[in-house]
Amino acid sequence: MPSLSKQTFVSPEDVVAEKIVVRKDSPRGVHFRRAGPREKVYFKSEEVRACVVTCGGLCPGINTVIREIVCGLNYMYGVDDILGIEGGYRGFYSKNTSQLTPKVVNDIHKRGGTFLRTSRGGHDTQKIVDNIQDRGINQVYIIGGDGTQKGAALIYQEVEKRGLQVAVAGIPKTIDNDIAVIDKSFGFDTAVEEAQRAINAAHVEVESVENGVGVVKLMGRYSGFIAMFATLASRDVDCCLIPESPFYLEGKGGLFEFVEQRLKENGHVVIVLAEGAGQEYVAQSMHTVDGRDASGNRLLLDVGLWLSQQIKDHFTKVQKMAINMKYIDPTYMIRAIPSNASDNIYCTLLAQSAVHGAMAGYTGFTVGPVNSRHAYIPISRVTETQNIVKLTDRMWARLLASTNQPSFLNSDEVMLGKVDRAIIEQINNRKITSI
Ligand code: ATP
Ligand code: MG
Repeated sequence: MPSLSKQTFVSPEDVVAEKIVVRKDSPRGVHFRRAGPREKVYFKSEEVRACVVTCGGLCPGINTVIREIVCGLNYMYGVDDILGIEGGYRGFYSKNTSQLTPKVVNDIHKRGGTFLRTSRGGHDTQKIVDNIQDRGINQVYIIGGDGTQKGAALIYQEVEKRGLQVAVAGIPKTIDNDIAVIDKSFGFDTAVEEAQRAINAAHVEVESVENGVGVVKLMGRYSGFIAMFATLASRDVDCCLIPESPFYLEGKGGLFEFVEQRLKENGHVVIVLAEGAGQEYVAQSMHTVDGRDASGNRLLLDVGLWLSQQIKDHFTKVQKMAINMKYIDPTYMIRAIPSNASDNIYCTLLAQSAVHGAMAGYTGFTVGPVNSRHAYIPISRVTETQNIVKLTDRMWARLLASTNQPSFLNSDEVMLGKVDRAIIEQINNRKITSI
């Protein structure tokens, strides 16, 4: 075995706990197999015929994952037969393939996008598994988001049903960071970093004019992680709007009042919003019908354009106040860049974990860090729910504390009442405690 040293082997008995913060008497909880090289491998190098496919939208780091799967298989396990399935799931049966070698993929991590190209729709489980069988493929590496992982679960089930000795490994890809169980998805850090540039540009623009209002739309169809982290990182954002937190425009505690107040105080205001925020309001005012993409995902309406227009109309027509609106949508620029240093390292770990898992003979798994330890997670666990920003979590509270924006919660007084009472109780019973 070319480059694996015995010291790095992970025992098949080692597990990673899903919950790391637990109460003293709480049950042991769910554990996943720890990822890493095994002393006993299932496949012999010369037997392996692997394939790699990428599906869904773009995300920084896909090429690094492809490269490291190919190099990992070849350098660590001496595998030579690796196929690239081109153009997503449909590439399996439309016979678009190429041979992947370390030489072919050597430089691809320096480029954005996916070297293998991608697509939406076209998942036909029977045709895909027929093809896996016909070509004699026995390791399938599938890089993609929630939809892709659902497709991977179906491929795994069909492979099991037919009794094929094929390892199916999923590498979760989502720029939105909405994949359940794992700590973070690859490309997320790069996206947050790149989003800073757009926020900075908006800030520079609105600072340089009178009553400047900057609106920056970021990715986040159902979850506002990018918007939340970009806001927390930037410090130039006055208000962050995400799909999980409903907001309103008019009246006391509404967005218009807040914008007016910040314009009076600072002369400018920057709003960051996730693409999935406030979709119901946009739909109401536009009277549009639900559109779907080829994979069946709901097409979102442009909340950024809508909000910019609403703010413009309110201040010019209602408040009779001239504002300078700057709307920036950096989505495609962010998706298309190569991954940064930390994502590159992370992608390498994911790819190598997937290779070790498949070579050890595991199947139907997804790889990812759980509480900072890389683990093999059953695909069904990551597809059953989606990660969203919980408004009761500490991170959202930190954001509200950092921007001092309205919480848009009508039950504010009730919640504050509860908090106040709890604080008073704590003060009455206080005592310094050694850890
Ligand atoms: P992202 O949302 O991050 O762009 P994704 O993987 O969710 O990535 P989709 O376009 O939804 O992107 O799906 C990618 C592929 O997975 C498509 O080829 C689609 O046909 C397939 N797919 C999506 N949902 C399912 C499903 N429920 N069952 C089987 N295949 C699916
Ligand atoms: Mg998706």
